[in-house]
Amino acid sequence: MNTDKKVAIVTGASRGIGAAIAERLAKDGFTVVVNYAGGAAEAEALVAKIEAAGGSAIPAQADVSDPAAVARMFDAAQAAFGGVDVLVNNAGIMKLATLAESDDALFDSQVAINLKGSFNTLREAAKRLREGGRIINLSSSVVGLRPASYAVYAATKAGVEAMTHILTKELRGRNITVNAIAPGPTATALFLDGKPQSVIDTLTKAAPLERLGQPEDIAGAVAFLAGPDGSWINGQVLRANGGII
Ligand code: NDP
Repeated sequence: MNTDKKVAIVTGASRGIGAAIAERLAKDGFTVVVNYAGGAAEAEALVAKIEAAGGSAIPAQADVSDPAAVARMFDAAQAAFGGVDVLVNNAGIMKLATLAESDDALFDSQVAINLKGSFNTLREAAKRLREGGRIINLSSSVVGLRPASYAVYAATKAGVEAMTHILTKELRGRNITVNAIAPGPTATALFLDGKPQSVIDTLTKAAPLERLGQPEDIAGAVAFLAGPDGSWINGQVLRANGGII
């Protein structure tokens, strides 16, 4: 058992932003629990890549919407590494439709994974994180932008921001910070899949920096909050989006 290093659980780390966060935190010296729901091969490949670069990581299958699976993941991390110091709540899905055209499945799936999934992991983290811990939740800049067809998705992320602020207060006295990162459009499957090229082009130019975010941009912001330089940042939502809002 290696108990020297700080231990970070990154949910939804098999690809996209979560994979970049896992890789970056491993590079910064954390032992990383690479959570995934379905992408076992991708998660295992990422763990192998991290280990080949001299880092330390394990894959951990758990659907974040299942509270028992989340508890088992924390148990496994504690058994393997002695404790958990950092939770990055990154797992998420996005399904877009106007409110009038949103069916129950669209609503239920996003609430289950984005909102209840974050609740499930936050509850375990609130009970188990070691002194000096860090919690970083992934919100979205659409909470501020409020674009048409994002109502349910943005509502789940607004809920994540609300839990961020309240948990900050509930963890008073334990030297644990709770913050959220709210990315703008970022070049991952979640953003790119199913969008016409014209929409992608428009959103690429929307921020004053005139490019899409890359997963590494978001990973850098998470690494700041998880690392020593972020220790005085607490209860904040940091929009990492090139200035789109
Ligand atoms: P991707 O679709 O690229 O990746 C999503 C990740 O979440 C995958 O690793 C997937 O794993 C995992 N996942 C999905 N459902 C579950 C579940 N039930 N339990 C555990 N893991 C799950 O998304 P992004 O990387 O783009 O998004 C990451 C986060 O950033 C999300 O919370 C998203 O809302 C947020 N965000 C993204 C933006 C963007 O433009 N990309 C903008 C603003 C916010 P698997 O395939 O193995 O199930």
